[in-house]
Amino acid sequence: MVKEFDILAIGGGSGGIATMNRAALHGAKAAVIEGNLLGGTCVNLGCVPKKIMWYGASIADVYGKYGAAYGFDASEVSFDFATLRKNREAYIERARNSYGGQFDRNGVEVIEGYARFVDAHTVEVNGELVRAKHIIIATGAKPSIPDIPGKELGIVSDDVFAWEELPESIAIVGAGYIAVEMAGLLNSLGVKVDLFVRQDAPLRYLDDYILEGLLAEMKASGIQLHTHKVVSQAEKVDEGVQLHFQDGSSHSSQTVLWAIGRQPNTESLNLQAAGVEVTERGFIKVDAYQNTSTPQIYALGDVTGEKELTPVAIKAGRTLAERLFNGQSQAKMDYSTIPTVIFAHPAIGTVGYTEKAAIQEFGANQVKTYTSTFTSMYTAVTEHRQPMKLMLVTQGPEEKVIGLHGIGYGVDEMIQGFAVAIKMGATKTDFDATVAIHPTGSEEFVTMR
Ligand code: FAD
Ligand code: NDP
Repeated sequence: MVKEFDILAIGGGSGGIATMNRAALHGAKAAVIEGNLLGGTCVNLGCVPKKIMWYGASIADVYGKYGAAYGFDASEVSFDFATLRKNREAYIERARNSYGGQFDRNGVEVIEGYARFVDAHTVEVNGELVRAKHIIIATGAKPSIPDIPGKELGIVSDDVFAWEELPESIAIVGAGYIAVEMAGLLNSLGVKVDLFVRQDAPLRYLDDYILEGLLAEMKASGIQLHTHKVVSQAEKVDEGVQLHFQDGSSHSSQTVLWAIGRQPNTESLNLQAAGVEVTERGFIKVDAYQNTSTPQIYALGDVTGEKELTPVAIKAGRTLAERLFNGQSQAKMDYSTIPTVIFAHPAIGTVGYTEKAAIQEFGANQVKTYTSTFTSMYTAVTEHRQPMKLMLVTQGPEEKVIGLHGIGYGVDEMIQGFAVAIKMGATKTDFDATVAIHPTGSEEFVTMR
């Protein structure tokens, strides 16, 4: 018997789940098809396990870097990675199980298995056919691996979350969110970290002003950054894995992590059967309304390659469900001004234009930047003084705030509220008219001169 639905999501990650729940709330008969674990990357292999390890690393920093100056003697402190892992996995399981309750309440059916298109309205899962008027492709992405001899000797971020114990040393190859986050948290948890980037810095799209803070803190914390290193080969050696670089140098460590970006999960979907087109890089081509090249097939989240962040996949999905099932025929996701945090040590928060992007877009005479550098009070009484660098980017004579960026203690929890102000079009005058909260780091944003 062929199962029939109004709407079907292929992929039960952040995007697929959010879309189906919202569609079902508006009365649609909805189903999610998931081949692996409900919750997708974010819950099982991304944001959630990463953030718990980041918190663990922050506790390690309290003992290792800051506690002593506040009078705490940490000489007897020990760390058991197995406990962190056990509690992390238990939390993830609870989060995953909570989806079942939501689906039951909303009447969303879950179909276990991998889907592949048979035609534009039909997919096959485990030999059974499932049909729907609307189909959402929300299959996410997976880590990329460099195409070099010995590539199989390296691991990817998914594997980090399967570790039963921490390695003694790791070489991380890559320059984005994952490379920087893993470098910071593993270093704080006691792993010797060497970070290899192929250009002159990680996170190159950030303004130098913010980047300087990250590089200074990496150095102070003992993360070895190696720039202009293009890896050409990996080889098994007694100590673990040896990386060879195009400049003739090499480096050995117990483990190697490839963190060079992610590629879309599309190869098993048989997209040709539905006529769905992909971009040159293999991501699914969508317009501003998440429509693919085939009517009534949509794509959202990481599989589209557009801002690979959980809240983006969720918002795109809910917006689409509003358009399809709640009469909001013009509803579309606004991909501008998306706030994001890189959970580095310390965190980096950013929303809107960087200074360099603003100058490129509006011209240098239209852009005025305000900055503030100081030592975070939390670390100021300790020997490990950590820089805090905050920055506002404004545009035009009215000084509309079009970018807000920061690195430092607590920045991860600062950005969200300011993102609202920026979305509403706040100017520097509006910021200045707001009374500061003292003593905090955020107050700098409303007192910058
Ligand atoms: P996914 O969550 O990847 O879900 C796709 C699902 O589709 C998967 O469960 C997969 O099994 C399933 N699937 C694939 N093919 C098929 C098929 N043919 N049939 C059935 N099912 C299929 N984002 C943040 O906002 N904050 C963070 O702190 C953050 N940290 C991250 C840390 C790491 C290490 C990683 C890797 C990512 C992180 N992200 C973070 C990004 C975030 O996880 C993704 O942007 C988000 O999960 C994308 O959601 P999605 O629904 O598009 O895809
Ligand atoms: P990113 O896209 O962030 O960064 C990958 C970087 O690696 C590239 O920008 C490039 O930088 C470098 N790189 C690419 N190819 C190679 C290569 N062959 N050798 C060496 N370096 C290479 O990818 P990530 O995998 O780190 O993360 C994927 C996405 O997941 C992120 O973009 C983000 O959207 C999301 N994410 C979000 C998080 C959060 O919200 N906190 C956390 C983790 C992931 P360069 O050109 O400078 O060399």
